[in-house]
Amino acid sequence: MTLPLFAIYGASGYGREIMPLARAQLRQQGILSERLVFVDDATEARVVLGHPVLRYTEFMGTEASGRHVALAIADGSVRERLAGRCRSDGVEAWTIVAENVVMLDGIELGEGALLSPFAMLTSNIRIGRHFQANIYSYVAHDCVIGDFVTFAPGVCCNGNVVVEDHAYIGTGAIIRQGKPEKPLVIGRNAMVGMGAVVTRDVPSGVTVVGNPAKPLVK
Ligand code: UDP
Repeated sequence: MTLPLFAIYGASGYGREIMPLARAQLRQQGILSERLVFVDDATEARVVLGHPVLRYTEFMGTEASGRHVALAIADGSVRERLAGRCRSDGVEAWTIVAENVVMLDGIELGEGALLSPFAMLTSNIRIGRHFQANIYSYVAHDCVIGDFVTFAPGVCCNGNVVVEDHAYIGTGAIIRQGKPEKPLVIGRNAMVGMGAVVTRDVPSGVTVVGNPAKPLVK
């Protein structure tokens, strides 16, 4: 009997954090961890955390009744490229949610999300594809999060905030609450630096740092 195959794409830092969560999730579903591998296009390691590391072509060449991949790479543009490749090869996006994640009401979570331990999503939240919420990050009520958005550890995203596609929010950043009639907007491809306190909209493609957060002048 052929069984499905599950993979964590990226065997580096974040991938190694996601692997134990993936293993626990499969255990809950009664699926053996022998069907769980890493996929990585560059690392020389052949085994990481007891799991084989395959090149993508090896993964595609392994017999399986279905393939499921979690993209555990912090760079959203890399995730988008890999998601496109997986989709066109019929590989399914795999969502991984740590056991202690809190999700309240009315949450729409896009495919391929990775929610690390102690992440919290409260109420009335819409989230796009391949979102990453690293440890201790939260998304509060009435937020809209785009595709390929990345929250590093400890991000505080308060209510009525819109985070557009591909934005990257650094460790410990705090995003001020917006208003129902005028949400605070973090633009597409914007980057919020570690520990920044964002009190107003961030335009697309702009990096902000500091408290209150201001555009980075190099
Ligand atoms: N990677 C890959 N294919 C790609 C891009 C990246 O396999 O097209 C792998 C890369 O070899 C590395 C991991 O993804 O092992 C990304 O790790 P990195 O340390 O850059 O970031 P993080 O783990 O923090 O996301």
